[in-house]
Amino acid sequence: MSSQWIFLNGQFVKKEEAVVSVYDHGFLYGDGVFEGIRAYSGNIFKLDEHVNRLYDSAKSILLELPYEKEEFKQVIVDTIRQNELSDAYIRVVVSRGPGNLGLDPASCPTPRVVIIAEALALFPKELYERGLRLGSVASRRNRPDVLSPQVKSLNYLNNILVKLEANQAGVDEALMLNDQGYVTEGSADNIFIVKNGTIYTPPVYLGALEGVTRNAIIDLAEEHGYELKQEPFTRHDVYVADEVFLTGTAAEVIAVVDVDKRQIGNGLPGEVTNHMLQLFRELVVRDGVQCYPENKKDVAV
Ligand code: PMP
Repeated sequence: MSSQWIFLNGQFVKKEEAVVSVYDHGFLYGDGVFEGIRAYSGNIFKLDEHVNRLYDSAKSILLELPYEKEEFKQVIVDTIRQNELSDAYIRVVVSRGPGNLGLDPASCPTPRVVIIAEALALFPKELYERGLRLGSVASRRNRPDVLSPQVKSLNYLNNILVKLEANQAGVDEALMLNDQGYVTEGSADNIFIVKNGTIYTPPVYLGALEGVTRNAIIDLAEEHGYELKQEPFTRHDVYVADEVFLTGTAAEVIAVVDVDKRQIGNGLPGEVTNHMLQLFRELVVRDGVQCYPENKKDVAV
């Protein structure tokens, strides 16, 4: 591919020329929303769910998107096609747009839409094989009544702070608790634990983003006969779980084998985790919005 094309304010521009104003309130104040989406084999996974979440985030901050949902989905597909991608990570950003230096969004009449699609540098394969080390951090998850984790906003400092703490502790990912001490999620992924065959994940009202991957895993687990409960749990429950795994658009399904120096299970990705990863990888290639329907081969069955 000769150059990478970025969708910027209604047109495709070359990566080197894709710039936004320093007066954009997305830059000045983190005022805006975003989504991370993935395409597998030319199919965009859960496009409706991601676009719905984007519109909900925007509605919550009174940011009016310049497209109808259907048009928005189409420009995401167009961005994949323009870059001739098949497996990709897609970043959609909508900022409040340029305004003056005061924080009042009233000075920003025109939101900016940016869509970046790149052939994804996947998490290294060996991480899926060896599993992650998780560490709990001192920073707490934003209280949902102060800044809801459901708003996928450009203000990700809460998550960045916990990632910094995880880096300093020398672990792969942070375990974030809420102000009551209940487990919420990682810095950019949801958490599941498995105990005596039952799968648990925290209810999102405790302070987790309602992850698209999380919901897909809940559906897959239920379809395949697992008992799954959305229940509050504490760090102790994570320490003594048989298995722990994280889910997210980038992470997919990834095992955790160590939490605050407590080995999980036998220190290797567990059976349920591996099964969920396998089911997830089967789902993503058969599901999704096709970017290249003209290439679809009729497969005789
Ligand atoms: N929690 C947070 C804070 C995130 O940023 C993400 C990544 N979007 C997730 C969870 C996982 O969500 P999803 O499965 O929709 O990528």
